[in-house]
Amino acid sequence: MAEGRDPRFDPLFQPIRLGPVTAPNRFYQVPHCTGMGHALPHTLAAMREVKAEGGWGVVNSEYCSIHPTSDDAPFPFAALWDAGDVRNMARMAQAVHRHGALAGVELWHGGQRSSNLHSRAPSLGPESLPGHYAPWQCQRMDREDIRALRRWHRAAALRAREADFDIVYVYAGHTYLIAQFLDPATNRRDDEYGGSAENRARLLMELVEDTREAIGDRCAIATRIEVTDEDGGGREARDALLARLAPLVDLFDVTIPDYSQEMGTSRFVREASLESEIAHVRALVGKPVVSVGRFTSPETMLSQLRRGIVDLIGAARPSIADPFLPTKIREGRLDDIRECIGCNICYAHDAMGVPIRCTQNPTMGEEWRRGWHPERVSRVPRARARDKVLVVGAGPAGLEAALTLGRRGVPVLLAEAEARPGGRINREAALPGLAEWGRVRDWRLHQIGKLPNVEIFPASRMTAQDCLATGARHVILATGSRWRRDGRGLSSPAPIPSFDDPRVLTPDEVMAGRRGPGPWVIFDDEGYYMATVLTELLAGEGQGVTLVASAGRVGHWMEHTVDQERSQARLIDLGVEIVVNHRVEALVPEGARLACVFTGRNRDIACGTLLPVTSRQPEDGLWQELQGADLASLQRIGDCRAPGIIAQAVFDGHRAARAFGGAEPPVRRERVVVRPDRAARRA
Ligand code: ADP
Ligand code: SF4
Repeated sequence: MAEGRDPRFDPLFQPIRLGPVTAPNRFYQVPHCTGMGHALPHTLAAMREVKAEGGWGVVNSEYCSIHPTSDDAPFPFAALWDAGDVRNMARMAQAVHRHGALAGVELWHGGQRSSNLHSRAPSLGPESLPGHYAPWQCQRMDREDIRALRRWHRAAALRAREADFDIVYVYAGHTYLIAQFLDPATNRRDDEYGGSAENRARLLMELVEDTREAIGDRCAIATRIEVTDEDGGGREARDALLARLAPLVDLFDVTIPDYSQEMGTSRFVREASLESEIAHVRALVGKPVVSVGRFTSPETMLSQLRRGIVDLIGAARPSIADPFLPTKIREGRLDDIRECIGCNICYAHDAMGVPIRCTQNPTMGEEWRRGWHPERVSRVPRARARDKVLVVGAGPAGLEAALTLGRRGVPVLLAEAEARPGGRINREAALPGLAEWGRVRDWRLHQIGKLPNVEIFPASRMTAQDCLATGARHVILATGSRWRRDGRGLSSPAPIPSFDDPRVLTPDEVMAGRRGPGPWVIFDDEGYYMATVLTELLAGEGQGVTLVASAGRVGHWMEHTVDQERSQARLIDLGVEIVVNHRVEALVPEGARLACVFTGRNRDIACGTLLPVTSRQPEDGLWQELQGADLASLQRIGDCRAPGIIAQAVFDGHRAARAFGGAEPPVRRERVVVRPDRAARRA
């Protein structure tokens, strides 16, 4: 037992046998997307390595395509199509092995869901149905196509073994090809691969048998599978299938079809939410079971093991927010765990085809290109009083900058105007469903509390004079932003004169408790969560609210964070009237004047109070005033530089602190560079 560990947590550190391999502990990073995949193998390997270093006993890849007929472009999936991919994926496996962890790979065929935008291969499916991303259908697989698929899958499994993976998945979930065969809604075939539940499962059984036969002596065979059909039915047939699979499978990674629950934001879904739905599987299969639940509490993890719900604690987001979560439990440093806040900013970026990042962990995705490590920063050599840094503003950016500078050994004064540090977190974590966002503030304040060289001065609104009077030669401004009252935003880049009216309240004023007469009109021109949570707040207070969105859905960007639909459904249930594809063009004596975004046609609706959620004004007054001041360095970070998401403010604070005391190092780029063209040089 490592020093400091509470022996109660010992079960989390017991090795477990998975067929021919042994996981060193119960911390299991399930396959999760990264936005890196086949395109950024160095970036990917470095990121996965940090998880293994942090103590995750198993580290898996993301969905890994077996063949060009499964191409998810523009999203950078992983691939094992050829020898080049073997080399790239082997880089990840090696990196994971360096720390004694097992490496897993999730072999994947997207079936009708892969539009094959890049490869231009026809998509394949049990039947010819539309794909998700393009207005064309897939090819119904005939027997020869199925035989070919089995060959591709087997070949990919052999390549996975060659790349030195220890666990190889047959991926039967998340509406991809095998799930399309399993599901009675998508599979209406009348041959031996359709019809009865047994027939629909034939392809999965064959692929599992093929994989076992090809590599089962060396690699554990895992399957990721849902416990019901897509519509939530078919549980008995699934139970029978799981039991039939049990002799052939070494590890069951089980989940449910509702992705907005499995991958739910903390606004709608709590920790361990799958438990009641997957708890029966372990007894059914008699093989090791893993499942997820955004586990960040060691107590919950332990309880899952003790009660026999799972054998391994599955995690994607908790391992992103804190790659060193297992180590911190092992060393008895529970208060150091940087808990995921359930915002899904990680997933949102993968869903936009770029590398993941994290609100809580600013180093996520930056391990290779910036060389950032989540637990280590370099000390500033011989930091002395003259290097003292004044950070103004204790929101996410200021807190992160102060913490990271403090860890680098720099003396820091952190001045905050409000009595309570936290900035926007204080306002927003009080909104419906967002309480967990408070972890951004609380974790940083707690960590700062351990640093004798960082002093916090609350209730200290700083003027330029005050800043200079501190004697700090370096000033970092993290003064945030305020929501605009004048309607400027995407729909109206210019201020809207009629919004200069006592009927207008800003989001900041409403969050501070101000209320106006009803009916309320809330204008969502920003597209993220703010308008929807404020609507939920006001509707919950019994106010009559009309939510007007300039996009086709309210909070449309939340489609990336997987909570747009739940959000809109909640507002509908609360009786909110929703008007989409309209902008609020003006306040008129009778109310708010709306304009259709397509035709420009106007209509007026009653409005006692207008709440425009359009854009924010950087609080950069100090920045302007301190220009030309006698300082060694002055910089602005976070929202006062460019108002954005909390993740960006944390990142900017971290970046500034890492760069302190020297030039910002260049950011490495991972790309193909062509060889010099000899013929052209001769010409
Ligand atoms: P960010 O997301 O960039 O961290 P926030 O708006 O969350 O920005 O936080 C900015 C913080 O800066 C707020 O807590 C605010 O009270 C504080 N602040 C703004 N101006 C001053 C000032 N002149 N002196 C001290 N604190 C300030
Ligand atoms: Fe958790 Fe948000 Fe980080 Fe994703 S981005 S791991 S949801 S804190």
